[in-house]
Amino acid sequence: MSAGAVRMAAGLALLLAWGCGEDSADALSTGGGSTTTGVAVDGGHACEGVTRSCADVEASFSASSNVVVDCTDGESTFTFSSSGVPSYDSDQSTPNEVKIQAWTVTIPLTATCADTATSVLDSRGEIAFTVAGIPIYGPQDATGGDAIINEGPSMDGCWGHADNNCRYHHHSESPCVFGENTDLDTQQEADGHPPLVAYALDGFAIYAVDSDDSEGESLDGCNGHTDSLRGYHYHMTTDFPYTIGCYAGAATGSSIATAEDNGCETAGAPGGPPPGQ
Ligand SMILES: [Zn+2]
Ligand SMILES: [Zn+2]
Repeated sequence: MSAGAVRMAAGLALLLAWGCGEDSADALSTGGGSTTTGVAVDGGHACEGVTRSCADVEASFSASSNVVVDCTDGESTFTFSSSGVPSYDSDQSTPNEVKIQAWTVTIPLTATCADTATSVLDSRGEIAFTVAGIPIYGPQDATGGDAIINEGPSMDGCWGHADNNCRYHHHSESPCVFGENTDLDTQQEADGHPPLVAYALDGFAIYAVDSDDSEGESLDGCNGHTDSLRGYHYHMTTDFPYTIGCYAGAATGSSIATAEDNGCETAGAPGGPPPGQ
């Protein structure tokens, strides 16, 4: 939403039940599954494992000075660290400040398919990270409602806001992943495909909204599909679940925010969970 609309709606935001608190990446521990390839996930598309090089991974993060990538070709995972603070000033209106985090995120370098997809709809914490090093939380608020509809008024013009651990995050595509209000259409890949904007914690990449299919009609229930260049991958959508609906891959990634003494002091909000939930 526009910054003006955000300000107009700021009062409303304070009345909303507060949600999207961090609940750690423990949700991943129930995922997993085998490395079987070619498994059909919701919607009938076939997941296929993806092998990528560290050069590709490092290139995908190259627009962000906020992210340090540690990747060795041939290993099964890569790791990156991020402060979790955006490159722009956020005018989000939650009662929570945006504070420096010490995100350490480990993601499969070789993404493998799971026997069955793992829903992320009720994940209140991180399910993916943008190439700007910002976490993406599940699509629901604390009450199980649509986080964009219910919490959108608290978000800044980059569709981000902070939880009660002062962790800035998104629930949907951000127009600021390559810098504040950088048109994602100018970042398309060579064949005209939308740009890579995030990695889900199962190792599959998330690409920007496809303007020819903004509601994801061609995507499976995880918001994924396969093409010959990129293999299996997800797309952002303009409708729920906005990012991904499930992990098609083996959910072996992890993310930890270990920031200490970052000055986060919030009391939550009326109707919301206590700090730390
Ligand atoms: Zn949120
Ligand atoms: Zn695609």
